[in-house]
Amino acid sequence: MSTTLKKYDLDKLTVATVASHTALQILRGAKKYGFRTIAIAGRADVAEFYQQFNFIDEVWTVDFRNFVKAAEKLVETNAVFIPHGSYVEYVGWRQALEAPVPTLGCRELIKWEADQYKKMELLQRGGIPTPRVYKSLEEVDRPVIVKLFGAKGGRGYFLARDREELRRRLAGLSDYIIQEYVFGVPAYYHYFSSPVYGRVEVFGADIRYESNVDGRTFGWVEPTFVVVGNLPLVLRESLLPTIWKYGVQFAKAVEEVVGCRLAGPYCLESIIRDDMSISVFEFSGRIVAGTNIYMGYGSPYSVLYFDRPMDMGERIAHEIREAARRGRLEDLFT
Ligand code: ATP
Repeated sequence: MSTTLKKYDLDKLTVATVASHTALQILRGAKKYGFRTIAIAGRADVAEFYQQFNFIDEVWTVDFRNFVKAAEKLVETNAVFIPHGSYVEYVGWRQALEAPVPTLGCRELIKWEADQYKKMELLQRGGIPTPRVYKSLEEVDRPVIVKLFGAKGGRGYFLARDREELRRRLAGLSDYIIQEYVFGVPAYYHYFSSPVYGRVEVFGADIRYESNVDGRTFGWVEPTFVVVGNLPLVLRESLLPTIWKYGVQFAKAVEEVVGCRLAGPYCLESIIRDDMSISVFEFSGRIVAGTNIYMGYGSPYSVLYFDRPMDMGERIAHEIREAARRGRLEDLFT
């Protein structure tokens, strides 16, 4: 993307994203830093919603099946693109890999995220503790969680207390991963990898609020993990050095194993056991919806880096502005 970026008129630099997920936070932050902003919607009614906000300069309605064409148009407007958790879902991984617009972070990671085994491998290559993965039913010696490939929002996951229950429930199923069920509390860590400052920041944390595991179910229904919202989380300070270290290790693993720089926001998703040990079961290579809880008033840890509260949308815009000023935009976008 470096040739595309070189042709850009930096005075007209535009920040674009897909109108969903964390778009409001991203575009609000971009406008605060003086960028032009574009929201790309897939439907007219969605576009109408985004049009009411004065920090969004243009709202486009496009056919996501032809996102590559929209990406070409974005280049004509000097736009950089911020991917988020719903982006790949909307446009598909192939278009996300090929769209000819400079895209924040490491695009290649999309391929790793699509495969449950590769995902775990990358975490392990970073020396990050993960739940045990069972290759066969016979190895299973404790409660497990089974994740079907392609499952979304926790749908298509189930728990099995022991090998017998697992045998019954796996009948007829294919393409899944069997993982140790880790007992503890969920905690999701938001990081920002900054090429400009040469550091990884631990930016905030959240908990997902999930139906039915967090619901009033009285044990009458099967647990399900469908995300309905996010709650803010402030961690015990004694956990922070370890959490930061895992974030740093992950960024390093991406660089070494995947071969590209993890610039911008990402997330490690974990369970913390009652002995304070952490097991990371998932990552997201881009901004997660849990950062929305700090929109407008900033995450508690942002104060530690900038001496003022900042949300993730502002943090992204700050990085782009600084990189543009220092002639280092190529370090952020692939
Ligand atoms: P995402 O939305 O991040 O793509 P998802 O919603 O499909 O992912 P996960 O976030 O991977 O699914 O997991 C769903 C739920 O299952 C979470 O509440 C998480 O805490 C729980 N979970 C996942 N793996 C484990 C594990 N090995 N042990 C205990 N709980 C787990």
